[in-house]
Amino acid sequence: MNLASLTIDAARSAIQERKITALALAEEHYAKIAEKDGEVGAFLTLCKERALEQADRIDRLSAEGKPLPPLAGVPVAIKDVMSTRGIRTTAGSKSLEKYISPYDCTAVARMEAAGAVILGKTNCDEFAMGSSNENSAFHAVRNPRDLSRVPGGSSGGSAAAVAADMAIAALGSDTGGSIRQPASFCGVVGLMPTYGRVSRYGLIAFASSLDHIGPLTKNVKDAATILRTIAGRDPMDSTSAEVPVPDYVAEFEKPIRGLKLGVAKEYFGEGLDDEVRHAVESAIDKLEGQGCEIVPVSLPHTPYAIPTYYVIATAEASSNLARYDGVRYSFRARGVKSLSEMYRRSRDESFGAEVKRRIMLGTYALSAGYYDAYYLKAQKVRTLLARDFEDTFTRVDAIVTPTSPTAAFRLGEKSDDPLAMYLADIYTVTADLAGIPGISIPCGETKEKLPIGLQILGKHFDESTILRVARGYERSAH
Ligand code: GLN
Repeated sequence: MNLASLTIDAARSAIQERKITALALAEEHYAKIAEKDGEVGAFLTLCKERALEQADRIDRLSAEGKPLPPLAGVPVAIKDVMSTRGIRTTAGSKSLEKYISPYDCTAVARMEAAGAVILGKTNCDEFAMGSSNENSAFHAVRNPRDLSRVPGGSSGGSAAAVAADMAIAALGSDTGGSIRQPASFCGVVGLMPTYGRVSRYGLIAFASSLDHIGPLTKNVKDAATILRTIAGRDPMDSTSAEVPVPDYVAEFEKPIRGLKLGVAKEYFGEGLDDEVRHAVESAIDKLEGQGCEIVPVSLPHTPYAIPTYYVIATAEASSNLARYDGVRYSFRARGVKSLSEMYRRSRDESFGAEVKRRIMLGTYALSAGYYDAYYLKAQKVRTLLARDFEDTFTRVDAIVTPTSPTAAFRLGEKSDDPLAMYLADIYTVTADLAGIPGISIPCGETKEKLPIGLQILGKHFDESTILRVARGYERSAH
């Protein structure tokens, strides 16, 4: 079977028509992982037993001629920040190196209930903090398109697994860009749903008001199929929204003629690589060619997004990470003489440099005397950023931007310069702060054959429109 062209639909029909068994399909993907993952490093843990049991269940359904669920037999990978019952869940951190979750994340459970076969857990930046996957406590991930480059982060393992045909699709998480930016670097589709659209139950928390789960896939339709599977209210997450989930797949082929697409000047300024600019501009021309109206817009508070994000995200992280105390389920230092030494050394010996930096920044921003100046101020700017989008969306149906200012950079290129690394998310953090959905789709390559991503942002709970625009572009590009 040619794994490279295999999408969800193709796999499911092949299984339905008995051209291949789910078991054989899973085995083929494990063979691909054995062949390629030594150099890519996308997986941290494989769960073959669970995968083959599920594949067997699907094969029995199909042998009995029963109707198959939407993801029947589809081999997928799960970012290692999502809890999986009985399977190691590390969040890319030494502090959880031996942690085995006693329950499943809702999104994972919904994928499995829809027939997906979970191959394993993918590598990521520690606690999803990073843009290159180099902050993993275990090993870096390499970009399958060019092994000297990063796959992006923090869902770098998920993006690389899909790009290297080691999985048909994957789940990732996005707090400041971690689904869309790696999707763009690896040349796959990455969708961040509206905040509240997908339950966060079982997702290891980084910044709870910004964390989102979403799919990384080979095409737009697969992203729509997975979103439909994982979206919707979950009583286990009080922030998951009671908003009806449309049939994204039924809607996404609708023509895009007449849609108004905003192009914001703030996303095309200093720091944007020329080749990326050209690719994105020509993608916008293609959309115009399909009858979309291009509307120049302005989102004036955009320049404050990165500092705002790094105050709010670190504040929430410092509070969320307080639970790793060495007492309950995280790493515990040996040979300590007192309780306070146990806390101190357990955390010191098990967190990486970036995680420590964020805990310190966040604790500082929340401390008495600085709270008003930093945290409260950042919350106010967050409101202004959200209002920029609200105002703009009274005039346009979606906004198109580059996903990232550059294509994939080299391993080590930014690891000594946290500020340069933070700027990799300059076009993605705004959507997380505003809680709106965004998708990144491939829109060309640089001269060095590195993928470039086009980002489409939409109104709250209007994933349908961004999927339609994404599909419209995909149609015109093929
Ligand atoms: N790169 C950003 C950060 O380091 C975003 C990470 C994410 O979305 N999880 O915080």
